[in-house]
Amino acid sequence: MDKHQRLGNPSPPVEKHIQMEILEKSGGHNKGCNDASNGCHTDQGCLYWLGRNDKENDVLLSTSRQNDWWLHLSKGASPHGILRCACSSEGDKRRCIGKVCGEIKAHSKQAGARKVSVDVHMRRNVKSLKNKKDGLVELKKKPDHVMAV
Ligand SMILES: [Zn+2]
Repeated sequence: MDKHQRLGNPSPPVEKHIQMEILEKSGGHNKGCNDASNGCHTDQGCLYWLGRNDKENDVLLSTSRQNDWWLHLSKGASPHGILRCACSSEGDKRRCIGKVCGEIKAHSKQAGARKVSVDVHMRRNVKSLKNKKDGLVELKKKPDHVMAV
């Protein structure tokens, strides 16, 4: 069984190749997370995932856990982020959230903006409305945190 089968999120190699090219053209940094299925790690060792299109965003919502964090730019279109933070200190938790906020900004159309704000919600307060439209969500509460990056 290969990695993709195990994770239940197959992506054809061709598509992946195209996505890598897009990322390289849009800045080409290697530090960014460009693996939506396996996820990436913050400096604190916590896992996070970024969805770069509606389908990936829906997959992230359906595979995430209720107590993960869900992140999205406060205004406008945005990649969705999921963070599974296991940090015990508030400082580390903020660093993890800050890292994912930076990644979301970097992969959004507002990458060049001086400051953007990112809403951080508990996953359990985010409801998928993909049966109405791919990538659409309903937020049950105000964000738990609003971060400026
Ligand atoms: Zn963490």
